[in-house]
Amino acid sequence: MGSHLCDRLVSAGNDVVCVDNFYTGDKRNITHLLTESNFELIRHDVTFPLYLEVDQIYNLACPASPVHYQYDPVQTTKTSVHGAINMLGLAKRTGATILQASTSEVYGDPEVHPQPEHYWGKVNPVGVRSCYDEGKRCAETLFFDYWRQHRVEIKVARIFNTYGPRMHPDDGRVVSNFIVQALQAEPLTVFGDGSQTRSFCYVDDLVEGLIRLMGSRTDFTGPVNLGNPGEFSMLELATEVIEQTGSRSATEFKPLPQDDPQQRRPDIDLAKNELGWEPAIPLTDGLTRTIDYFRRIL
Ligand code: UDP
Repeated sequence: MGSHLCDRLVSAGNDVVCVDNFYTGDKRNITHLLTESNFELIRHDVTFPLYLEVDQIYNLACPASPVHYQYDPVQTTKTSVHGAINMLGLAKRTGATILQASTSEVYGDPEVHPQPEHYWGKVNPVGVRSCYDEGKRCAETLFFDYWRQHRVEIKVARIFNTYGPRMHPDDGRVVSNFIVQALQAEPLTVFGDGSQTRSFCYVDDLVEGLIRLMGSRTDFTGPVNLGNPGEFSMLELATEVIEQTGSRSATEFKPLPQDDPQQRRPDIDLAKNELGWEPAIPLTDGLTRTIDYFRRIL
């Protein structure tokens, strides 16, 4: 997502400093920007302080795939919590507006459906997903405390499952897994019975939402849901991927991971009203573009 955001910001003529520790990011996704005079790259981990002069900060730092964020859960919490403290400190010193990439995971395994922003969620504080969920929840707390206590200008986006070109083939999340498996004629690994749902947003739509949120009126902080309300079961997703790739792959059922949310769909009324934003790219079109990408790189 970061590389797509950089593309948009650079082409709009902004001076962009891209900060990445390359834990899950791939340098090849931004190589084409390195020759642009208004783009700079710094290898840095946000769990350490950063001194720069900036007027806007998009804090997207944190592995987002369950496989990756559970690999080193302590570091995951540090990335969200220490990372938020460091970036909020930077915003406070420079007077920058700071946007936090929060997540639908703050709703946990939700009992309210679809999820509006005022729903507080149902999150296990001690499970395998907690490093991500609680880390992101604590980051939201820090954002609102810096806003109340230090008047830092904040914007909090709750991002629902986002996909698109430049995802890593080994990302581990469902859209890239299914596409890669289908293209390699391997079975599609459906966890549980595949009835659980997600709402998938194409990356271009999401980036548009982030940019609009950054440009929103000063007193609008969010949290605001950004996602595509189209809701699909994992079996429906598998069927669509097999159809679009023309793959011979079958589906293979695997155990459902612990605390895997059963359903998820954003209520996006607030984003519509405040940002005039809603996704334009339906799953079927987004999948076509993403499949094209994976065909090229595999
Ligand atoms: N999933 C699946 N097969 C996979 C990877 C994921 O069936 O190979 C399921 C997973 O159990 C979850 C959904 O797809 O119910 C979305 O998982 P993902 O890791 O993409 O994101 P999450 O929304 O769970 O963070």
